[in-house]
Parts: sequence; C-alpha cells; structure tokens
Amino acid sequence: MPGESIIERCEAKGLRMTGQRRLLARLLQEADDHPDVEELHRRAAQEDANISLATVYRTVKLLEEAGILEKVDFGDGRARYEDAEREHHDHLIDLTTGDVIEFVDPEIEELQERIARRLGYELRGHKLELYGVPIKRKG
Ligand SMILES: [Zn+2]
Repeated sequence: MPGESIIERCEAKGLRMTGQRRLLARLLQEADDHPDVEELHRRAAQEDANISLATVYRTVKLLEEAGILEKVDFGDGRARYEDAEREHHDHLIDLTTGDVIEFVDPEIEELQERIARRLGYELRGHKLELYGVPIKRKG
C-alpha cells in the first residue's frame, strides 16, 4: 500500500524481520540514490560490523521478489535498487561521472501510451534509461 514504509510493507507481506533485515530496510528507506549491493553493504557495516555481503544479497533479492524493491540497471552490469513505491520516474545516467538524474516527462509518458495502444496493448509500465555526457558549452 502506498505511504507505508519498507519495513511496514515487509511485515504486511509476512517476511520475518531480523535486526539486520530491519537495518537494511531502513537504509533503503533513507536512500535517495540507487545503491548497489556493495554500497548498501558498506552503509550497513557502519552500523553493524557483523553484517555479511551475502546477507545483503539475500535480503535485497527477497525484497525484490516481494515487489518491495525495484531493480534498476544503468548499463554497467551492477544491479541497483530503489523503493518500488516511489513515484514513477525515468533516469538519465551521466557516463562521465555515473551520476543518475531522475526525471518525468509527460510527453514521453503519453508517447509510450500511444505506441502501446497502436500495437494493441494497454500499457502497464515501462523503464527508460538515457545515457549521456555533459554538453561542453563554449566561452
Ligand atoms: Zn530512480
């Protein structure tokens, strides 16, 4: 249900929430970026030195399978995660820095609806990633 925290959604799905899972759920809730498993492990280890990389892997996989996290892939082969309940948005990836810029464009949304309809489909979702380098301005 929208508005519920990641921990609340885990509990609503009946997932057993250990202390380490709670820690990971909270870190994911607080993240305003798209951490991969190594980054999430780094953040978690600052609060619980005993947490293993394997636990982080298993937990994000569990949350992804439960539909609580969404996996995003920005073309470098590393799986990154964000809260699946976040408002829909697309991503632009800066190839020089790896920075990720989030955006929503009503024209793109509408265009995709039109394409799907033309092909005989009702659109249920989409993923769009743009890859670019900053434009060098003269002067
Ligand atoms: Zn995002």
